Amino acid sequence: MVMHIPFDNTYAHLGPLFYSKQLPEPVTAPQLIAFNQPLADLLQVSGNSAQEQAQVFAGNQMPSGADPLAQAYAGHQFGTYNPQLGDGRAILLGEVLGQDGKRYDIQLKGSGRTPYSRRGDGRAWLGPVLREYVISEAMHALGIPTTRALAAVATGETVWREGGMPGAVLTRVAASHLRVGTFQLFAARGEIAALRQLTDYAINRHYPQAQGPMGLLRAVRDAQARLIAAWMSVGFIHGVMNTDNSSISGETIDYGPCAFMDHYRADQVFSSIDRMGRYAYSNQPSIAVWNLAQLATALIQQLDDPQQAVDEATEIVHAMPALIEAEWLRLFRRKIGLETAQDADMELISELLELLEQGQADFTNVFAALGDGDARDQFLAPEAFDGWERRWRQRCAQEQDPKAVMRAANPVYIPRNHRIEEMIADAVAGDLSLFERMQQVLANPFTVQADAEDLRRPPQENEVVAATFCGT
Ligand code: AMP
Ligand code: MG
Repeated sequence: MVMHIPFDNTYAHLGPLFYSKQLPEPVTAPQLIAFNQPLADLLQVSGNSAQEQAQVFAGNQMPSGADPLAQAYAGHQFGTYNPQLGDGRAILLGEVLGQDGKRYDIQLKGSGRTPYSRRGDGRAWLGPVLREYVISEAMHALGIPTTRALAAVATGETVWREGGMPGAVLTRVAASHLRVGTFQLFAARGEIAALRQLTDYAINRHYPQAQGPMGLLRAVRDAQARLIAAWMSVGFIHGVMNTDNSSISGETIDYGPCAFMDHYRADQVFSSIDRMGRYAYSNQPSIAVWNLAQLATALIQQLDDPQQAVDEATEIVHAMPALIEAEWLRLFRRKIGLETAQDADMELISELLELLEQGQADFTNVFAALGDGDARDQFLAPEAFDGWERRWRQRCAQEQDPKAVMRAANPVYIPRNHRIEEMIADAVAGDLSLFERMQQVLANPFTVQADAEDLRRPPQENEVVAATFCGT
């Protein structure tokens, strides 16, 4: 049987301003590392041998119906506008309708040079590919909107980074790859017809109930507000929240130097390129608002009454911090077992976070332990926790089933940095067992599993990962 992917492409019909048609560059010796069968089933991607999957998902063989292209976009990188980014190492093969009735992009990442590659080689190495595979699938299992990983293929070629690294291609699946930066591209160039076309396309594809550009802005705001609050609730730091990495659908996209925190620190930064801490953990809500303001600026270019548009967009953007905070509060209430709302809850949660920071306590493990009643041992100075615990227990007494709420809200397993690093080192040495085990355990992050205690353990001092790298 030949691999069949039921493509149903729409982006390719937008016209040449939106992309460059581009074939992937074939690789010498593709070898399948991972294939996500449940996701393939959802996408109705069927086919047989690993060999054939390797050929297709390395970009060596085009499945019928594919319309390969590199998407054009721009974006603010660390606050500075770059008028021309685009897929420098990614190729959109096309779209499929999933069994859930939703539309998905299937994209190869690391598939060779495109007109947007600038000085890049268009490639990816195994480390970031497996990193994105594990972390994006873990994010999905945590119930947080994200792009997903369909396949990982080793290319058999060497990619030059700090040294020679094994090359790989990731097949990424997304609700779409429309970004804030896609809108910025046309707005900045004054290409208003294309901007209108893109706006209609995005509304149609993601928010059919939204009315006009300001309706779209509102819908993206709401989706992004939910996303950022969800990241905060699991201690996730994206690391590169540039506007080209900020998705219109509200999914987590572009897993670069991202990381989940071990011990809690509000101003935690991992990315080696984020020297100013622009994308620190606690800055993520403000950056999301900043990014939405850039989308607003782009969208209003197409409106006839600029003053009225500015007023409306301003109001929409200004409402975002309160929306993030409300969702944050709802999620953190659940993390301490509360389903009902009381005014003092915010203070109770903030105090716990302060205790976590002072006590250098593990974010994930403390919340997971709250429900089991043994969080105290996790703090450097447990006495400081006692007073808080007393007040928290009184508050919980007014709830129906706080333990069940906490169990559903607090993951036991997150993809910890030091294990990700270990997994990559193993994979480079040819051992995929940790890669496979992490996927298996992280697929059920809320359930304690046998023989997985090592994946709960925070890093020892010598295992702490101080910095993460873009891996481009
Ligand atoms: P990112 O930091 O991954 O969001 O990428 C920012 C921009 O750099 C995008 O336009 C990418 O396509 C491009 N880029 C990143 N890595 C490479 C590479 N190895 N070759 C070509 N372009 C790249
Ligand atoms: Mg990007």
